[in-house]
Amino acid sequence: MNQPVPVLQHFINNRIVESTSGRRQDVFNPATGAVAAEVVLASVDEVNQAVAAANAAAPAWAATAPLRRARILMRFKELMELNHDALAAAITREHGKVFSDAKGEVTRGLEVVEFACGAPQLLKTQFSDNIGGGIDNWQMRQPLGVTVGITPFNFPVMVPLWMAPMAIATGNTFILKPSERDPSASLLLADLFKQAGLPPGVFNVVQGDKIAVDALLQHPDVKAVSFVGSTPIAEYIYTEGAKRKGPYPLRVQALGGAKNHLVVMPDANLDLAVDALMGAAYGSAGERCMAISVAVAVGSVADKLVEALIPRVKALKIMNGMEAAAEMGPVVTAVHKAKIEGYIQDGIDEGATLLVDGRGLSVAGHEQGFFLGGTLFDHVKEGMKIHNEEIFGPVLCIVRVPDFAAAVELINGHEFGNGVALFTSDGNTAREFSRRIEVGMVGINVPIPVPMAWHSFGGWKRSLFGDTHAYGEEGVRFYTRYKSIMQRWPETIDKGAEFTMPVAK
Ligand code: NAD
Repeated sequence: MNQPVPVLQHFINNRIVESTSGRRQDVFNPATGAVAAEVVLASVDEVNQAVAAANAAAPAWAATAPLRRARILMRFKELMELNHDALAAAITREHGKVFSDAKGEVTRGLEVVEFACGAPQLLKTQFSDNIGGGIDNWQMRQPLGVTVGITPFNFPVMVPLWMAPMAIATGNTFILKPSERDPSASLLLADLFKQAGLPPGVFNVVQGDKIAVDALLQHPDVKAVSFVGSTPIAEYIYTEGAKRKGPYPLRVQALGGAKNHLVVMPDANLDLAVDALMGAAYGSAGERCMAISVAVAVGSVADKLVEALIPRVKALKIMNGMEAAAEMGPVVTAVHKAKIEGYIQDGIDEGATLLVDGRGLSVAGHEQGFFLGGTLFDHVKEGMKIHNEEIFGPVLCIVRVPDFAAAVELINGHEFGNGVALFTSDGNTAREFSRRIEVGMVGINVPIPVPMAWHSFGGWKRSLFGDTHAYGEEGVRFYTRYKSIMQRWPETIDKGAEFTMPVAK
């Protein structure tokens, strides 16, 4: 008989709220293929309950001094550090990525928390003294109110932390709608926020699917939605959000999918380029929005690159992500595995050369797991489905081009513009590439150039709908509204003497 599995619920007003929607979905452990939990799927009423809680908490939180908000985030950061392994294990259990990679994900999320702890500094604005006639003019940044984050399966800790600390530090309340495929981490984060002293209603979690997302998008009290996920849904969120009626148009940033190229120039250090390709294409089983899925081999480098890659791809250590030796774990679900296998067949049918076939892999002791081996295609051409579309799996395509200009043209011709990398030993080539390439995040001899917390993350073209990128200063802009104040004081007001050291109240 099957053991009962945990049921993952909502978190509203600092407590677990049991769903009565009657709708649930299985959450798998991809390494074993077993159902590890069930997650509830919210009804519209449950979404309304979360928005009401976040809305009720918003005025007091907005009025809390930024320094006091930051101190709660500082405690949250300490708690995350203490629970680093538990968070990473929760990621590996439901996503499948290897434990050390999951720990890295937690660290990258923590860095945004650290950045958000600088809220008082981040919220400073500009002041013009005496613009004329005893009048001063300055700006303030005010929070929006209830904000929402809708996040993808591939970074269940990091992506929510691109949003929530920024929203909370700047004085907003926040509702997270995590991916229904790996929702456990959202509840761990919620518990840590509560332990850190965040008041009820400031951070909430609503579990769910399209019904929850649509209800959040349409709710008149929701002021902003940050979305990260696939391009069709990002575009849907952006366009539906723009249509919403009401006094406040919905502010939306929607980060979408990607197809990231890594260009290898003939003068590149080949060992470095091959190492970079292995990690960036097969790390996290290719399920990263910044994964490299196309190697662009320029001129004479192609044959050498292929020769070096084949044995490395065949030797990938693929196992349960909790094993210390694992380099790559399973993909997230059986459905996703089948989709990737479909793309591999498409590549063969379209005439690309399959050098390493990852299909049919069986991992001893984990025969029901959602494993796929590393896959490598050569002679992939522009226009083939495996070049046009995001596969989001451990499949690397090699496109051969004659020269640098053709590499730039290939990449600039693609609909996505999230990340890109160039491997070269020539400074001028690197400089020209950085200037000409129509991609939001560029790595020079760096395969996955995910910007640090104090820079902002975002792609170009159909990898981002909206004007602002995530976190960093752009995150502060997204979660605040600028207000300009012009003021004249004919008289000053005497407050009398104060003898204690003034502190934030
Ligand atoms: P997804 O688009 O399927 O899901 C993302 C979120 O949208 C989830 O919370 C999901 O519940 C919700 N959703 C799914 N279908 C919906 C629908 N029809 N209507 C309303 N909401 C819906 O994405 P995913 O498979 O979870 O994540 C992988 C994708 O995310 C990849 O395309 C990857 O490139 C992208 N991604 C992009 C970035 C970035 O920064 N650009 C970062 C991480 C992931």
